[in-house]
Amino acid sequence: MAEIRVHHLHKAFADFTAVKDSSFAVRDGEFFCLLGPSGCGKTTTLRMIAGLELPTSGQIFLADEDVSFRRASERDIAFVFQMFALYPHMNVRRNIAFPLVSQGMGRAEIARQVESAAQTLRIGHLLDKPVSQLSSGDRQRVALGRAIVRQPKAFLMDEPLGALDAEFRELMCRELRALHDRLGATTVYVTHDQMEAMAMADVIAVMNEGAVEQLGPPREVYECPASVFVADFIGAPAMNFLPFEAALARGEEAIRIGPARLGVPQIREDVSTRPLLAGVRPENVRLADDSDLRAEVLGTEYLGSSTVVTLATAQGASLRAKVDAATPARRGDHVGLAFDARAVSLFDAASGRALR
Ligand code: ATP
Repeated sequence: MAEIRVHHLHKAFADFTAVKDSSFAVRDGEFFCLLGPSGCGKTTTLRMIAGLELPTSGQIFLADEDVSFRRASERDIAFVFQMFALYPHMNVRRNIAFPLVSQGMGRAEIARQVESAAQTLRIGHLLDKPVSQLSSGDRQRVALGRAIVRQPKAFLMDEPLGALDAEFRELMCRELRALHDRLGATTVYVTHDQMEAMAMADVIAVMNEGAVEQLGPPREVYECPASVFVADFIGAPAMNFLPFEAALARGEEAIRIGPARLGVPQIREDVSTRPLLAGVRPENVRLADDSDLRAEVLGTEYLGSSTVVTLATAQGASLRAKVDAATPARRGDHVGLAFDARAVSLFDAASGRALR
């Protein structure tokens, strides 16, 4: 297996820039997710790593070797497309064996490798069935079988679970991650689904308009978002953003919203002349009667284990609180809101950048 390094990668299609100066390293054996909304350049980045697209500038290293302009077939990387790219007229065995046959491997060795891949994926009992008779989950496993049988240096996966319903997606997420842990293979996984990325990745690269906006483990990306974009894209319900009246001076640890004085983390930068936003995740907003930050309950959404309360502050900001399902809150109620200083992220309102 191998480390993948992407160095100042740039891709333009005529006058449109799809990938802008992206740099990241995927460590040997790591599960790395490229995450972002549709059109942000994830697939283009993955295709350049695979060798299916040439970079306009920048470099790609696979195990320290510069492969930027090497053909896809010379890169020893398996690209797993949407899982249904199988040959429906062939049985499972022949589908999995396909890459090995193309390589000219001997029959006995192919049989051994196919059995071993099928065992890893627990589809040994399906080897002689035509693919057309399989459930979508089993087809998915066959597609994975075809990727792992080659024992490539790395796996690249582009939204492999995109076509599945939610429940099955969750199951396949767990299976994919378990498979990754068994094989220890370096994996780059593209998704626009933050839940998938959070559940599976060791490291997430959040992309926005062609650029990598933040790079880090799921917990770091969730708890210390580098920008309003990342904070908003990750987490459901999304983070609340409260503009505040008075700007914050360096070293201050509280902000004012209307009559309320709210604790925030101390920042090192001097931002006293700029409009700022305080970001608070819904699960960190508490309903507290004694707080001076007043709000009206606009609605509630009962989720079983919790309730999401939609609120409007007296200053006109809207926000959501995810509270214990037993919390009494009804439309029209007037409540106080509180949150811990540690749970607040501060952002520059104009640039969206997080303040540290
Ligand atoms: P999605 O999840 O929708 O595929 P993505 O983040 O993977 O989104 P890309 O497929 O990498 O995004 O596309 C990034 C941008 O580059 C898009 O605006 C897309 O239209 C454009 N693009 C991709 N391939 C080409 C191409 N061959 N020619 C012109 N524009 C392209």
